Amino acid sequence: MVPIRLDLTAMRNVVVHLIDHLVVPGLLVCGGIATHLLVVAGLAPWLISALVVGAVAVVAAVVERARPERAEHRPLDQPLWIEAAHFLFNYHLGYALAFGVCALIALGVAAGGLASPWPARWPLALQVLLAVTLAEGCSYWQHRLFHRVRWLWPFHALHHSGSRLNVVRTGRFHFVDIGPGALLLFLPLVLLQAPAVVVTWTATLAGILGVLQHANMRVRTPRWLDGLMCTPAVHRFHHSARERESNANFGTTVMLFDRLFGSYRPPHAPGPDAVGIVDDATPAGFLPQTIAPFRRARRDAGSRSQAMPARSARGS
Ligand SMILES: [Zn+2]
Repeated sequence: MVPIRLDLTAMRNVVVHLIDHLVVPGLLVCGGIATHLLVVAGLAPWLISALVVGAVAVVAAVVERARPERAEHRPLDQPLWIEAAHFLFNYHLGYALAFGVCALIALGVAAGGLASPWPARWPLALQVLLAVTLAEGCSYWQHRLFHRVRWLWPFHALHHSGSRLNVVRTGRFHFVDIGPGALLLFLPLVLLQAPAVVVTWTATLAGILGVLQHANMRVRTPRWLDGLMCTPAVHRFHHSARERESNANFGTTVMLFDRLFGSYRPPHAPGPDAVGIVDDATPAGFLPQTIAPFRRARRDAGSRSQAMPARSARGS
């Protein structure tokens, strides 16, 4: 009888490799199941999205402690209360303003009395795919514009500032940046009168992907998936300190528009050398970080060139 020798190291490597590849699909599937159950339970759309995305963020925060992609990204860029303040004030103010405008537009659309052109008879998965694609088609240009236009960049720079990419970065946005982003995300769905369940799925999916893209979790995705959706590997390069890498991959859900308009850059191992902004002008502190972009925008709006030259396109 031939003795069976167990190669424990090889077995461990296989298991670890498997876990690395299962984190992203696993969290997406779990988030999808939770969303479905909460929709069936009849919870309000905003509450479903908040609960599911919040739960994924908690799991990501735990996983990034246990299995970080980069150990040097474990510490926070700044005190947690500042990150929390940006999430509680800037992020939510931006979304509140976007939802307010969407509500007014929805009232106008309803008052118009036009029949909804939305393909409500399609299977739900196809409707969500259509909604995500339409939403991305608008928010892609918002993101690209905030990188390209000199006086808009200071508002988006807050999200790119700092040298560490971890889960708290998901909620660090200036309201002048996230507000138009959220508005353009939902605008096509409001205009086409998409059902609430489709809007809920779109918002929740975008939220889960946002957490996965910024968390410092060790995850691996196949190359074909990187070309279809904004995986963590794809988005990490968007946060690269090298401009030629960060002036690309503007998509946040599907990569269709990056591929159509020439801004897709396939990720490669082991990821960007460094993340952040060279010569970062972002001040320290919550209030300075909230107020300074207005001053910089006013100064830059008065300068002769509105479009940024290639070298300083995002590095200011
Ligand atoms: Zn960006």
